[in-house]
Amino acid sequence: MELYQLSAHKLHEMLVNKEINSREVTESVLKRIEQVEDRIHAFITLTPELAMQQAALADAHIQKGNAGPLTGIPLAIKDLICTRGVRTTCGSHILENFIPAYDATVIEKLKEAGAVIVGKANMDEFAMGSSTENSFFGPTRNPWDMERIPGGSSGGSAAAVAADECIVSLGSDTGGSIRQPASCCGVVGVKPTYGRVSRYGLVAFSSSLDQIGPFSKDVKDAALLLQAICGHDFRDSTSANVPVPDFTKALADNIRGMVLGIPKECFREGLDPEVESAFREAIRTLEKLGAKTVETSLPHSEYALAVYYIIAPAEASSNLARYDGVKYGFRAKGSFDLMEMYKETRSQGFGAEVKRRIMLGTYALSAGYYEAYYRKAAEVRTLVRQDFEKAFAKCDVLLTPTAPTPAFKLGEKVDDPLQMYLSDIFTIPCNLAGLPGLSIPCGFSKQGLPIGLQILANHFQEEKMLDAAYAYEQNTEHHLRKPAL
Ligand code: GLN
Repeated sequence: MELYQLSAHKLHEMLVNKEINSREVTESVLKRIEQVEDRIHAFITLTPELAMQQAALADAHIQKGNAGPLTGIPLAIKDLICTRGVRTTCGSHILENFIPAYDATVIEKLKEAGAVIVGKANMDEFAMGSSTENSFFGPTRNPWDMERIPGGSSGGSAAAVAADECIVSLGSDTGGSIRQPASCCGVVGVKPTYGRVSRYGLVAFSSSLDQIGPFSKDVKDAALLLQAICGHDFRDSTSANVPVPDFTKALADNIRGMVLGIPKECFREGLDPEVESAFREAIRTLEKLGAKTVETSLPHSEYALAVYYIIAPAEASSNLARYDGVKYGFRAKGSFDLMEMYKETRSQGFGAEVKRRIMLGTYALSAGYYEAYYRKAAEVRTLVRQDFEKAFAKCDVLLTPTAPTPAFKLGEKVDDPLQMYLSDIFTIPCNLAGLPGLSIPCGFSKQGLPIGLQILANHFQEEKMLDAAYAYEQNTEHHLRKPAL
């Protein structure tokens, strides 16, 4: 076993027992990056010097006996979370050379926890996409099959964990961007409740949907990383002032009597038969562990994708108005006046998908169309949320497949936005309702591609979904399989 293969909780044990130090762990991870990164391309920016400095700092803390669970643990950060002094590109040409003057709250928290940052992970431009092919810096490859996408938009964060190029990582999820890549790459990914994690310093895509969350090799690591980044933050007005439970305490490996809701709508057209059979097998496993299942219904989830593609582009068109070449980021050369400079900067600085969303969003918000599109979408969003309220009156957690298919081929859907959007059919309703959701490996296709199980819980009930996921993981072996690199 190499150190880079281990989980954060295992490494923590070895660190506090002084069997190893953080410098060794970090060197091991950096060596692994050297071995595989030119094939995977999980990172936009690597920070080996910063990592070694933070490792030395962590070792000093461990020596003094004040090591937390993440002290000395190497991790990767999706490149839309601001890191002071380290460029933060959002996968975009327009922010290619943007170096933030401050740290996001989650980064402050991770630094305080003594974590080690090895680099900034690749992503679809401004988190718009499901394949990481929309990155200005080129796509990331799936460690299980280099011809395939790692999912997206947090594809770099997911692939880095799957390829052991970091121990854990952070991503963001607006419509599935943590859970869908976790599913494609065979790792655990958690989207917390809206408001659970501060988004101060997260570059905004769709502000009523965005959340930051962890990727990890197992459920316990996800719980530990979530713990480290949670909590109220006065700098984010949507941050919830609610108590943060001890998430690892919830991991009891006992789900006897837990009620699992199975929405009947998830057996729908487009669901790959291998995904369906892995999903049904996962339900049987959980039943054998003592959980009960009930059929539930989310009748309005049928409209969730359409609602999302009004709301998310509308908010994005407003959020992305700030990239005009004036204060920071890329500025097109050779313009004669201000209007031309704006136009050229935005035409050259944004990629095709981002432009498509800005146009869709601007249209949906324009006078005369606002009522027909944006307001209507907001109303249907309420119906989607009410469906969940009714469902959670009958069950503790809801189960669905995470994605309708395993990872598809690079290039397969780039020219067909609607097909690409359909990758998020199971993940989007949860964002519209502000709920927490998680993806955990639940099997492999015949071709050896990972398949993910999605577990959803009610607002601020992350413990229940972590508990269910942990029990499932402790009694199955999917998470132990590794890609051959
Ligand atoms: N794939 C979805 C989109 O393209 C979701 C992205 C996300 O969650 N950031 O918008």
